[in-house]
Amino acid sequence: MRIARYVVGDHIQYGIVELAADGGDHPDTVAAITADPLAGPVSYTGQRHLLADVRLLAPVIPRSKVVGIGRNYAAHAAEMGNEVPDEPLVFLKPNTSVIGPGEAIVRPSTTSDLQYEGELAVVIGRIGRDIPVERVGEAVFGYTVANDVTARDLQRTDGQWTRAKGYDTFCPLGPWIVTHLSVDEASDLGIRTRLDGAIVQESSTSLLVRGISDLVSYVSSFTTLLPGDLILTGTPAGVGPMLPGQRVEIEIDGIGSLENVVIDEGAGEIA
Ligand code: MN
Repeated sequence: MRIARYVVGDHIQYGIVELAADGGDHPDTVAAITADPLAGPVSYTGQRHLLADVRLLAPVIPRSKVVGIGRNYAAHAAEMGNEVPDEPLVFLKPNTSVIGPGEAIVRPSTTSDLQYEGELAVVIGRIGRDIPVERVGEAVFGYTVANDVTARDLQRTDGQWTRAKGYDTFCPLGPWIVTHLSVDEASDLGIRTRLDGAIVQESSTSLLVRGISDLVSYVSSFTTLLPGDLILTGTPAGVGPMLPGQRVEIEIDGIGSLENVVIDEGAGEIA
């Protein structure tokens, strides 16, 4: 299934996306379900909308954490002048950095080198600690597409990566969560990033240095994973800057396409 979170009318809804491409004589639709399926059993409400008539949101807002993995494609480590580390290189992005499809990535005034990083994101479905590699499939809820937006200059100068990867809007997610892929299937998907339509990253999740099972098991060896937590598995070669006004699209075969535009920071806000 493809599980989406979306706005219809004036309220937020979860639903199951059914694409025309799957076959059958219908347009792309979304069938509403009663609640967030990460929170417990759900059923259909009976409402159905055209996908074109709803506004997709980030399919999950992590309750506790987005875990990022650095230097997990050899070609990307090499382009940055880095070695592939002996142990997975782990960092956190705050859940307040998450935005959905079509929302703007806001470039802060503190950076002059804002970059895209197209990534496969693993969505955790069950609470788990010290998850054995061979049981990771039981802990995974599904997969989505992420852009691990990074202020490359701040990443270099700050000494650690919290600010460089943690600004609001620095974690676009979507368009939905695909729940029907096995760990093996998710480990052999084409992934590509387009900037204003031109391909800038093109690779396969088969080239992950540490695969999905190793990463989930490793992260769970030091922190409890909760339903809705995300693990971003790293970006392939081809990272580069994105400028205000540009459109960045990350596509993973078998999952979908996540598109966002970049804008410049405006005035601050206090709610
Ligand atoms: Mn990354």
